[in-house]
Order: sequence, then C-alpha cells, then structure tokens
Amino acid sequence: MTRAIYPGSFDPVTFGHLDVIKRASKVVDELIIGVLINENKRPTFTMEERVQMIEEAVKDLPNVSVKTFEGLTVEFARQSEANVIIRGLRAVTDFESEMQIAQTNHSIEPEVDTMFFTTSLEYAFLSSTIVKEVAHFGGDVSSFVPANVAQKLKEKLS
Ligand code: ADP
Repeated sequence: MTRAIYPGSFDPVTFGHLDVIKRASKVVDELIIGVLINENKRPTFTMEERVQMIEEAVKDLPNVSVKTFEGLTVEFARQSEANVIIRGLRAVTDFESEMQIAQTNHSIEPEVDTMFFTTSLEYAFLSSTIVKEVAHFGGDVSSFVPANVAQKLKEKLS
C-alpha cells in the first residue's frame, strides 16, 4: 500500500493545490494533506481555517484526509507511516528550491521519496499569494479558489 503526504501552507487552498490533490489521490492508495504550522510565515488564515477550507474541498475524495504538522516534513511522513511526499511544480522557478528540498529530505530519510506533479496549464500562474493579492483589491477570485474559500477571502481581506 502506498501512503503519501502532501505538505504545504495552503494559505488558502487553491484550484492549483486541488488539481494536484485530485491527481495524486488517483495514483496513491491514501493521501494525507499536511497543513504546516509555522507562525514565522505569518499566515493570513489560522490553522483551523486552513484545515476546514481543505476538508470542505476534499470531502468527496474518500482516500484523502487532512492533518496538521510542525517541524520536519520527513518526520511528519515517518509519523504518518508514509513513504511518499507529493509536491507540485508550476514553473522552472519552483524547480530549484523543490529539488533542494527533495534531496535534503531523501538524505535525511532514504525510505521516503518525493513525487512531483507538474501543474495543469490553466493553474500554472496560481499561488495562494497572488489570490490574496487579487482578493485584497476586491477582484473576483471565483475561478482560482472554491466558493467557500472565496467567501472567506472576501471577509478577511477586502
Ligand atoms: P509551501 O509554503 O510549502 O510552498 P504551498 O501551499 O504554497 O506551500 O504549496 C504546497 C505545494 O503545492 C508546493 O509543492 C507547491 O509547489 C504546490 N502548488 C502550489 N500552487 C500550485 C499550482 N497552481 N499548481 C501546482 N502545484 C502548486
């Protein structure tokens, strides 16, 4: 059985993340989304809000669950008894840092491998940061994030 984790800040979850989640959930048996607790990143949404928004978005995917974690991603993989880390690649700009992270993780924990999903073209430009920027200036984010997330962004940012 292949159990994978998909770690990230998800501040908030976007259609880009959900595209990776849906595709990854088809190739692994079980997928655990790991929401990173890192107050140094000064998230816009609380950990509870981020988890709740993802849970709503993945409720129809039976092999996907959501957890939170602190500290090393490989430690979270170990605790979850997962041997695969899922990450998404949007552009060459992601490649360098993602390769460095994957190689570091593999050298800390050789039993854990990173699997990359390249973004679907329509989401290549999408990041949580850009979505928050659009929402902040009152723009329509309904084609970037699920409806419940768009509503939360409006309440919090506009
Ligand atoms: P982090 O703070 O760890 O980068 P993010 O929530 O920004 O967390 O992203 C989590 C993962 O999802 C990363 O691997 C990132 O490259 C990927 N990702 C983010 N947006 C997209 C997108 N539009 N298409 C594909 N992958 C994406």
